[in-house]
Amino acid sequence: MIQLKNYINGELVAPASGSYLDNDQPATGEVFSQIPDSNEEDVKNAVDAAEQAFKTWSVTSKNERARVLNKIADLIDENAEELARAESQDNGKPLKLAQKVDIPRARDNFRFFATGIMHFASESHAMENTAVNYTLRKPLGTVGCISPWNLPLYLFTWKIAPALAAGNCVVAKPSEVTPVTAFKLSELCIQAGLPKGVLNIVHGLGASAGSAIVNHPKIKAVSFTGGTQTGAAIAAAAAPKFKKLSLELGGKNPNIIFADCDFDEALKTSVMSSFANQGQICLCGSRIFIERPIYEEFKEAFIAKVNKLKVSYPNDPEANLGAVVSKSHKEKVLSYIDLAREEGGKILTGGTEVVLEGEYKNGYYIRPTVIEGLDYTCRTNQEEIFGPVVTLTPFDTEEEVLKMANSTDYGLAATVWTQNLKRAHRVARDLESGIIWINCWLLRDLRTPFGGMKSSGVGREGGFEALKFFTEPKNVCITY
Ligand code: NDP
Repeated sequence: MIQLKNYINGELVAPASGSYLDNDQPATGEVFSQIPDSNEEDVKNAVDAAEQAFKTWSVTSKNERARVLNKIADLIDENAEELARAESQDNGKPLKLAQKVDIPRARDNFRFFATGIMHFASESHAMENTAVNYTLRKPLGTVGCISPWNLPLYLFTWKIAPALAAGNCVVAKPSEVTPVTAFKLSELCIQAGLPKGVLNIVHGLGASAGSAIVNHPKIKAVSFTGGTQTGAAIAAAAAPKFKKLSLELGGKNPNIIFADCDFDEALKTSVMSSFANQGQICLCGSRIFIERPIYEEFKEAFIAKVNKLKVSYPNDPEANLGAVVSKSHKEKVLSYIDLAREEGGKILTGGTEVVLEGEYKNGYYIRPTVIEGLDYTCRTNQEEIFGPVVTLTPFDTEEEVLKMANSTDYGLAATVWTQNLKRAHRVARDLESGIIWINCWLLRDLRTPFGGMKSSGVGREGGFEALKFFTEPKNVCITY
C-alpha cells in the first residue's frame, strides 16, 4: 500500500488532519494507495510557502527557470516507464497509451514552456510623434492549478509548466481519483532542485482542498480543467474576489463525416476519436453525423471495426480499451446507456459492462457502445457522458448538420471529414467550437490556442495564451 504525501515548501509532508482517503485501482477495484485528505490548513501552509518563494522565483532569470523546468523534463524521461505504469494503474487506461501519450506529453509540457518563456515578448504601440506605449508583463504571484482524472499528469503539467515558466509560484491539486503521478512529480521536482515553495501539491477532495485553493485570498488566479458544473462553482466563488480564471470544461463534440471524405481514414480515426482512453478525453467525438449516401456503409464498417476492439486489463499489450476510472463513473456511463434505450435508441453494439476473470473480475470495464436512432435534441445527444459511448445520426445537408452539431450547450472541439476545400473552411467557420480538426483528430501543436466556447470554458491554454494568462500586463506610456 502506497501512502502519498503532500508536497509543501519543498518537503513531502503528511496532511494536517492526519487522515487519508482510499484510492482504488480501476482494473481490479482494489484499494492500492492512500492519499492525504487535505484541508484549509494544508492549503494555507502551501500558500505561505509559495508567497515566500515568489520573492525569489519571480526575479530568477528566465534562463535559470528554464534550466530547472528542463531538468524536470529530463527526469520525467528517465522515469517514464515507472510513471506510465503508475498512471495506468491509477487511471485504468491501457499501459501502452500511458507510455505513448500521457507521459511523453507531460515531459513535452515542461520542455515546451521552458523554451517558450525564452521567446515570450510583449507588445509596443507607437503614437506617431507623441509617445510610445509598451506592455510590461509580470508574474501574478501565487496561482492555483486544479486538474481532472482523465489525463492526470498530462493535464496537471499543462497548467503547472506555464505558470512556473512565467515566474509564478503554484499551489496545485490533482484529481483525488488519480493522484499518484502528481505525487511522483513532487519527488522529481525535489530531485531537480526546484527551489522550495515554488510548486506545492496538495492532495484531497475538491470540496475541501480544491475549494480552499479557490477561496484563499492570496491565490491570484485559478487554472481549472474539469466538469462544467464544477467550473461554474469555481467561477461563482472566484468572481467576487476578482481572480483571473481559465476554465477548460466539458464537451459533447460532433464528428461530421461528409460523403466525399477519405472513407478509410475517416473510419480508422473515428474509431480512435470515439474510444481512445475509454472515451474519457474531453476531445472525443461522441456524436457522429454521417451524410446519408454513405450512412449505411459507414455504419457497417464502423461496427465491424468496433467489434474488433479488445476491452482488457491495462497491462494487456493487446488492450484497446482498459477500465473506466471508477465504479461511480462506470455506473454513470451505464445509466446513460439505459437512458439512450428509454429515449428510443437502438444499441448497435456494446451496451453492457464487461466482467473479466480472476483478479480483474471487480474492475470497471464497459464495452464500446454505438447507438443509432436518437433525435439530436435528446439528453443522450446533449449531455456529456464521458465514456465509451457514441451515437450515429444521418444528415442530408450542410445546413442541417451544422444546426445539429451546434445544438448543445458545449463548444469544445469538432472534427470534419471532407475532401471539399471550400466546404471544409465554411464548416470550420460556422461550427461553434474552440478547436476544429479537418481530416484529422487530436493533432496538437502546443503553440495553438486550446479551449472551448459556450459551456466548454472561458479562456485559452497553450502557447503564448497560457503565458499571457499567467502574467499581469501593465501599459507604460512615455512621451517623446
Ligand atoms: P471534476 O470537475 O469533478 O473535477 C476536476 C477537479 O476539480 C478535481 O481535482 C476535483 O477534485 C476538483 N474539484 C471538484 N470540486 C471542486 C470545488 N468545488 N472547488 C475546487 N476544485 C474542485 O471533473 P472530473 O475530474 O470528473 O473530470 C472530467 C471532466 O473534465 C469532464 O467534464 C471533461 O470534459 C473535463 N475535461 C475537460 C478538458 C478540457 O480541456 N476542456 C480536458 C479534460 C477533461 P475531486 O477529484 O476531489 O473531485
